[in-house]
Amino acid sequence: MKKTFIYEKKCSICRGKDYERLFEKKDLFVEICRDCGLIRLNPHWDKRTYNAFYKVDYDFSRVSINSESKDSEFRKERIIEFFMSLKKAKIKEFSPKTILDIGAGDGIDLECLRSFLLKKDSDFYTIEPSEACIKELKERGFKVIAKDGESNWNKKYKNFFDFISIRNVLEHMLDPLSVLKKISNSLKEDGLVFMSVPNMSNPDLSLTTFFEIPHTHYFSKNSIKNAMIKSGLEPILILDKNKVFPKTIYILARKKRKGFKKNHNFSKKEYFEKRKFILNQISKESNNFFPIFVVFYKLKNKFLVLIKKLKISKFKKRFFIEGLKKF
Ligand SMILES: [Zn+2]
Repeated sequence: MKKTFIYEKKCSICRGKDYERLFEKKDLFVEICRDCGLIRLNPHWDKRTYNAFYKVDYDFSRVSINSESKDSEFRKERIIEFFMSLKKAKIKEFSPKTILDIGAGDGIDLECLRSFLLKKDSDFYTIEPSEACIKELKERGFKVIAKDGESNWNKKYKNFFDFISIRNVLEHMLDPLSVLKKISNSLKEDGLVFMSVPNMSNPDLSLTTFFEIPHTHYFSKNSIKNAMIKSGLEPILILDKNKVFPKTIYILARKKRKGFKKNHNFSKKEYFEKRKFILNQISKESNNFFPIFVVFYKLKNKFLVLIKKLKISKFKKRFFIEGLKKF
């Protein structure tokens, strides 16, 4: 695959033009916006290169395609995350008729959601670039309306969806703001969106491995909040210090309502904080103690996974006993 790079002149969220390079390794160029603190790859592959990559090559990282049996439990856990968020946000009713999953993969998550829904006649729509996944989605009876979340799929679906799910997808997009605008545009007035992104403030293992070609953007609680508000969405719940899933930010949101007064707030503080965090972390990782640091991190991760499993199993028991009606 021939890779072509492109350099973005403006910040994807605040549209500022003042950027600082923080880190580079092979084809990775990590920059921070001096106006709002957003972190992204710049330059990065162009649209054509990414599209070709997601069509086939990215399948290697899809757990489900590689190990079906192990995956179903993991996927159930991800659906449970969503219901946990609903509970936290005190949303009692959830019975969507029109459902869209952006970056639906092979559809196992939707399959799980379908099994938990009270309303069994819901219509499921998906957006997915992988050829192998599209085949599976169609076999499961899900409509595939587009291959690319950044295409103009929303034109046919204005105020159409009761529920949109976009989990661990926005960080792959070249223009996340335009994707969020499409979501806001296609949600019904009382529709709900559930989103998750990796947490820039709590990266996995080490920063040097956390930054990777498929992820063009790295969000913190502040930057994702700003992006949503700027796109016409109103966050209901943002969980960035979730003890069960600490490396991910979970967001529940709806279309901005008339009474919603909050504006996006781009600040230098975010830039200074994130810059300091990244430079400190990278200098730690490059010194001689790094192998010890990795061992420590791995042990810490194992411990966190154990806690996560305990918490999930506790929640799962309650979840299955009480059923969805409690939500
Ligand atoms: Zn910016």
